Parts: sequence; C-alpha cells; structure tokens
Amino acid sequence: MTRDPRYDVLFEPVAIGPVTARNRFYQVPHCNGLGRTHPTAMAVMRGVKAEGGWAVVCTEQCDIHPTTETTREIRLWDDGDIAYLARMTEQVHAHDGLAAIELTHMGYHAVNRTSREVPMAPSAIPVLGDDPVYAREMDLCDIADYRRWHRNAARRARDAGFDIVMVYAGHDLSLAMQFLSPRTNKRTDEYGGSLENRTRLLRELIEDTREEVGDACGVAVRIAVDELMGNRGIVADREGRGVLELIGELPDLWDVNVSDWDNDSQTSRFSEEGFQEPYISDVKQFTSKPVVGVGRYTSPDRMVSLINKGVLDMIGAARPSIADPFLPKKIEEGRVDDIRECIGCNICVASDNTSSPIRCTQNPTMAEEWRRGWHPERISPKNTDDTVLVVGAGPAGLEAAVSLGKRGYDVMLAEASTELGGRVARECRLPGLSAWGRVRDYRAGQLHKLANVGVYLDSAMTAETVREAGCSLVAVATGASWRRDGTGRHHSDPIGIAEGAAVFTPDDIMSGQKVPGPVVVYDDDHYYMGGVVAEQLVSKGHEVILVTPAAQPSSWTVYTLELGRIQKRLLEAGVTIVASHAITQIEKDAVQVACVHTGRDRTIAAAGIVLVTARTSDDALYNDLCKDAPALEAAGIRRVVRIGDAEAPGTIAAAVWSGHRFARELGERLPDGPTYRLERVEIPESV
Ligand code: ADP
Ligand code: SF4
Repeated sequence: MTRDPRYDVLFEPVAIGPVTARNRFYQVPHCNGLGRTHPTAMAVMRGVKAEGGWAVVCTEQCDIHPTTETTREIRLWDDGDIAYLARMTEQVHAHDGLAAIELTHMGYHAVNRTSREVPMAPSAIPVLGDDPVYAREMDLCDIADYRRWHRNAARRARDAGFDIVMVYAGHDLSLAMQFLSPRTNKRTDEYGGSLENRTRLLRELIEDTREEVGDACGVAVRIAVDELMGNRGIVADREGRGVLELIGELPDLWDVNVSDWDNDSQTSRFSEEGFQEPYISDVKQFTSKPVVGVGRYTSPDRMVSLINKGVLDMIGAARPSIADPFLPKKIEEGRVDDIRECIGCNICVASDNTSSPIRCTQNPTMAEEWRRGWHPERISPKNTDDTVLVVGAGPAGLEAAVSLGKRGYDVMLAEASTELGGRVARECRLPGLSAWGRVRDYRAGQLHKLANVGVYLDSAMTAETVREAGCSLVAVATGASWRRDGTGRHHSDPIGIAEGAAVFTPDDIMSGQKVPGPVVVYDDDHYYMGGVVAEQLVSKGHEVILVTPAAQPSSWTVYTLELGRIQKRLLEAGVTIVASHAITQIEKDAVQVACVHTGRDRTIAAAGIVLVTARTSDDALYNDLCKDAPALEAAGIRRVVRIGDAEAPGTIAAAVWSGHRFARELGERLPDGPTYRLERVEIPESV
C-alpha cells in the first residue's frame, strides 16, 4: 500500500538543535510502571515504539537525586544508573529513533518514603496528598545543589546515549514548574515575585544542561502553559506566553501542555481529541523552535491540519502511542484503517497509579513485549492443527478471534446477539463512553480482512451446538451479567428485597428498560458504572439519589484521574450523593440505608432502584461443556477454555488481554513457575 500524499508533511524531518528527528511523530514522556524495576521490559517497550515509527521516544520522568524519589520510575542518581538506561537508548537507536529523557526533581511531590530525605520546594508547603510531611523552602545553597544534581544527571543522560535531554516544567511534579507557579512560589528573593524571577531557575537549568551536553544532544523543555485553575496558578495569557517571550529561543524544542496530570490526560468521557488546542494554539508565535503538543491525536487528517495551521511542528502522543505503537508506520504505509485508536479510558494511567506495569485496553501487548515476547504487530504462525470455536464476540472473543486469525487458524466466532462488541457495544451508548466503541470497531475492521475467520451473529450456542461445530478448541467468551440481589463488596449476601420493588441492573438500563423515579442508584462497584448510570437517568429527567458505601461515588476512578470530574458532573446535574452508606433493605417505594461507620439508618423514598454492585460470570455454557468429558472427546474437542469476563469479570482491558493470551497460548495450563520473564533484584555478594 502507498501513503496518501496528504500525509507527506507528517514524514518531514525536524531539526532539534544538533539532532534531527526523521519525522514529526514524538512520543512524549509517559509513566509505565516498569521503570527501574523492570528495566529490560521498559527498554524493549520503548524500542518497539521507535520500530513503530515514532521519531522521538521519550522516557518517563527521571529522578535526579535521592531528595526526589518515586518508587518505580527511572532515576539517574549516580553512574550506577547509566547502564540500564543505555539499554533503552540502544533499543530506540536500533530502530532509528531519537531517545529523549525527562529529568526531574519533584519538589513538594516527593514524599521520599524510602530515602527519608526532607522534601524541598520553592516555598515551605505540605507535600501533595495526605502524608503528614512538609517540604522545606529551598535556600540559595539548595538551589545551587539542585542545579548541580541536574547538571550531573544531564551528563549521565548524554553518557547513556540519549539524544535529547529535556528540562521538565510540564506538571506540578517538577521543581521548575513549582518555581514558575504563583501558587507554589511565594519567595521574595531573586527566584520569586516577578515572572522574570520565577523563570530564573528554568533559564538556568536550560543553560546548565546545554553547557553539560554540548553538541551531543538537543535540549528540550516540557512546560505547562496553563494549570486550569485561574489566577491562582499558571495562566496561558500570563506565565504561559510570558515565559516564552522571555526564553522562547533558549531551548531547541518546546513541548507544551496543560497541567496537572488530570488536566493533561483527560479521558474521552470528559474531552475530545485536541482538547488542549485552545491553550497551545499560539505558542509558535513566540518561538522559532519546534513545538510539540498533545491531545489524544489519532486522526492523521487532524495531525496534518495542526502542522499546516502552524499550531505544532511535531505531533506529541503518549496514549495514542500506547494504544498503537505502530501508528506512524501505519500512516506511512497507507494503512490508516489498521490504526488501533486510543479510547481515552486511562487504564494505562491507572496502572501507574496502582504501581502496576502499564496495561492498555486497546493494546494487550503493552509492557509484555519482553516479559512475554508479545509484539504488537507480529504473532507467530499457527503451530497446531486446531480449528477454533470462539463463543461470544465481546472484547475477549473479538480479540481472540482476530489474533488467532492472524496466526492462520481457522476460526468460527459465534455471537448470540445481532451485533459485535458484547459489553462494549452496550456500554458505548452510555453518556460519555462513545469512544469505547473503538475496541469493537478496530477488531471488526481486522476481522473483515481475515478470510479464515467466520463470524456467525444471532447464533446462541448450547453445549450441543458447540459439540456439533467440529472444532478442536473452544474458547468460551460469554461474558458476565450484573447481579440483581445487592451482593457486592459491602454485602457478601443478598439484600432483602420486598415483593413488588422495582429493582434494575445496569444491564436493564443498557437494554433500555424504563425506570420509575425518583431513582436510587446504589454504587458498590466503585468504578465508572454507578456514576454513568446516574448521569443517564438524570438526562432522562429523573430525580437521582446515588448511595455508596465508599466516601465518594466511582471511588476507583481516582486512579484514572476522573474522580474530581465525575463528582463535579454528578453534583452539577443535581444528583444527590449519599456517601458512606449501604442499602440494607429494599422496600416497594423506598430503601433503608445505614451509615457504614455508625450503623445509624434512615429511609430514602425511591420508586426505582438500580443496583450497581457486582457482576457474575455467564459460565453456564462452559460448565455444561466441561461436565460431559466423554461427549467432548467424541466431538473431537481437545480443550475448552473460558476467557474474559466468563472466567472472572473485570475491566475491558483484562478481557482483551485474556483473549489475546488465549490466541498466543491456546489455553495451555499455567506452568508451576513464573508465567513471564523476570528481572531479578541484584543481591550484594555479602551482607
Ligand atoms: P467479555 O468482556 O469477556 O468479552 P462480554 O460480556 O463483553 O464479555 O461479551 C460476551 C458476549 O458473549 C456477548 O456479546 C454475548 O451476547 C455473547 N454470548 C453469551 N452467551 C453466548 C452463547 N451461549 N452463544 C453465543 N454468544 C454468547
Ligand atoms: Fe488509550 Fe485506554 Fe490504552 Fe490508555 S489504556 S492508551 S487511554 S486505550
């Protein structure tokens, strides 16, 4: 296939000081939960990005000193940290990419739980979060120390083979930005007060870095142009432009974004592709240096228009590069239809926030490139004579069928309903979740190209029809259903439900059942569904009371950075939130709720109740098949495996991963030892 000439502009080289990017695709820094604890996995993951066509591949934040300590990201504290980072630059260079590193000191974000060093900040301030720890105000000696540590790290980065060294002022977790923001800088010396003074440290860091790396590396700056909190913080028209006016020509590249992370990485539930444009669109007027920006860009037309309009010189991406490490290659090779578009769900972000190796809803191979040898675009040809029946075309079944098809297996994909997608097809009709349909759309598009995969809609399978299908392997991907009895995390047994009470589940809401109001939505699931169902009911004109045993509805979304926005949206929509309460009894026109701390109870009038508590696997077919082993053998079926939610309900990401794993491993029993390659901790020779 050949590339659409409209996209040629995306493949022009861009000079970044002394180095040149081969095209305009720039993988901006992103956390990955691999870092220095899984350094080879991290290095290979970054190398795969370069292989996929990203001209610049950046690290996550890199701590420069024990006074700035994260538990899992990379660091350059001394020369001992050079070797594992050199492994990353080798991987990126092997695929013609430029390797960039983001040096940081987190200032008042660094709680330093291991090193126990006292955090430092422009001004004395409690550390971020709720640790009972304070940062001290940096004196001039501290600033001199910090500059020296930063210089040392820049030199080590150069020695590790990095091509671009980035000075980081892009989020609140960087000292340089904390000096810029009037919110965190209350100093009265030459580093505080006027914008020129607040920019002083950033200017010095850029100059120090350039002196240290010489012509070996480009010097980039990642900078927040707005904190989206009004005059309290950095504002685009004030600091955002003002800094560029002062030092616009100093670095070799500007990577501009909005801060903090929850603003920078907004989910599709709350923002569209290109949501940062209002804040960054005029940056190029203030500098002749290349400008990079992000905004969950997956559309090549949108990218071209950003370049042609003079908004950006390079297309920055974290999440789109996670969902599809080969996005640039696919555009380059005229395979735009094959792009696996990010759905903007922030499961990747949640992995980092839960200290897990990064996972992605769309890309099951993320972080598995080395650990399991899973390449995002290559999968080994079939090595058995199996024919495979996949029952259920939700995320698990679709992914299994597509990946098995790519291996060359003959596959039958049978789906009871008349559409592909399973839960994704249903959930993407709920408020704010339409982009989630991309999980189905990408795989449906791939299925179209696979002549060896037959898709059978409207085909509810029974044990008998499965046995008649004539396949030797069966994957049961029949999904899960929401419980109707109130059992969940809080209640391990069903709640009492009076005769005639109008009780519904999210499945009922998604299938369009009418709910009488006022409605109590009971969220004991704690992810997105309770909040989304409440939104849906409010949009239909209902009075909604959301009851949850947690301190806030959708409490797990703190990890996807959505918690604050969800509370705001629910409150602004007029939803009454009753937190820290569990439903204890459902009557015909009311629910009894009790405080989870005191047990004190009260009654809330409700004509309809939606129980968002827990899901159970739809595993009847699996159990029916397994209980008749002789019949399976007679039918020539050598193995039946349950995958996705049918095995255990979980995230869409988990279902996709499960389907992918089945395609790679064909449901082999787990080994007794490790299931993936380990990187072991070095033990000193003696104690
Ligand atoms: P997962 O997230 O594990 O992929 P989903 O609930 O999204 O699970 O999808 C399961 C799919 O399986 C649904 O589309 C459902 O209609 C389908 N399904 C369930 N039981 C059967 C069956 N007996 N035969 C065929 N398809 C089934
Ligand atoms: Fe995009 Fe979700 Fe994948 Fe993150 S996890 S890259 S938001 S699809």
